[in-house]
Amino acid sequence: MRALLLEAGYAEVADAADASVCVVNTCGFLAEATAESLEAVLFAAEEDAALVMCGCVPSRYEGELEQELPEVDAFLGVHEEDRIVEVVRGLVGPAEIDPSRAHDFASFEGFDPLVLRTTGQSVAFLKIAEGCNRRCAFCAIPLIRGPLRSREAKDIIREAKALVRSGAREIALIAQDTSAWGHDLEGRPTLASLLWELARALEGTDTWIRVLYAQPEGIDDALIDALAHAPGVVRYLDLPLQHCARHLLASMGRKGSREAFSGLVAKLRERVPGITLRTTVMCGYPGETDADFEELCDFLSETAFDYVAVFPFSPEEGTRAATLGDQVDEETKLEHTQAIRDLTEAIGFKRIAERVGTVVDAIIDAETPDDPDGAWLAHAAFQAPASDGVIHVNGPVEGVGSRARLRLVDAWCYDLEGEVCDG
Ligand code: SF4
Repeated sequence: MRALLLEAGYAEVADAADASVCVVNTCGFLAEATAESLEAVLFAAEEDAALVMCGCVPSRYEGELEQELPEVDAFLGVHEEDRIVEVVRGLVGPAEIDPSRAHDFASFEGFDPLVLRTTGQSVAFLKIAEGCNRRCAFCAIPLIRGPLRSREAKDIIREAKALVRSGAREIALIAQDTSAWGHDLEGRPTLASLLWELARALEGTDTWIRVLYAQPEGIDDALIDALAHAPGVVRYLDLPLQHCARHLLASMGRKGSREAFSGLVAKLRERVPGITLRTTVMCGYPGETDADFEELCDFLSETAFDYVAVFPFSPEEGTRAATLGDQVDEETKLEHTQAIRDLTEAIGFKRIAERVGTVVDAIIDAETPDDPDGAWLAHAAFQAPASDGVIHVNGPVEGVGSRARLRLVDAWCYDLEGEVCDG
């Protein structure tokens, strides 16, 4: 949307008070995110500018918001981003748009890699698919984003090359479920085949490729092999498990069990030596007993993931889990969530501290001249940008986007301190 507006001749301003139109993109995944989005919309409504509300919240509550939010001049759902220029033109006056640029986001056909990144130059998030065919009982995403629609490999590769040309040193692949990529395409290509193709296409550019949000059901031997051997693919996997108790997973509409997940983690560590693992778990899903919670704690202690995100279950409107009996009370949910956070942080901090004394390759992400802990921020292959910790760097580096060999000299929580070294 940003690219289309700039291309149509609109200028971007840093302060909403100077704008003639404010465009607020929203997240509606959880009630909490929706509330935060509404807060941002009401904040923007204080300005004199016209107001456009985009993204998941208008999609999720289609037809319900016009009355509730009279401050908003226009709503645009997730599949309507290509209409932004037309909408803004209607609100604040004419601007030029070349109709040939109208993208079909629903199918990704004709997608043009004209993506103005909002992240730093060193890292780019590349969306390889939209939507999800799974129907996890707690999740509103398929209701908002619809079924899986994978982008063609050639389009992903074209965009990856453009991102590298524009300075990206790491491409992080994202989707609602990256491991399902290709299931809806002709010939059913797989994420493993995409990783090999990307690795070949980016050969010689010294770019890291990272896989985020890979559901465990899609992790097969071919994918494990690509994680271990495809050049440039970092030995890192984000594997959202949600829980390990079989009956809760079954109620969620997910496969798996403690034994199956423990086996998968062991296999990944054996076949991909040094792999870093992240997961997400949920506390207080309906029907979760104290014994289930204890089982989850034992499982997380045993498997010792490097990074764990934990959320209390949120009964989302329109989802099956919100209607289930045996809802866990709020206090228990929050208590258990905090207990898991304490447990997994103790494990994660220890794993990070064990890295002190080692030498790692890192990408320099930002200059932080006012930071007493180091003039630069960097990340290593074991740190997913914007999710895991960072490395504060002292010493001469070649600037944002350069690579450096760092000796890790100190650690606190998930962060590290590194010094530039030669070998
Ligand atoms: S796989 Fe992820 S996005 Fe898809 S329904 Fe389950 S939780 Fe939601």
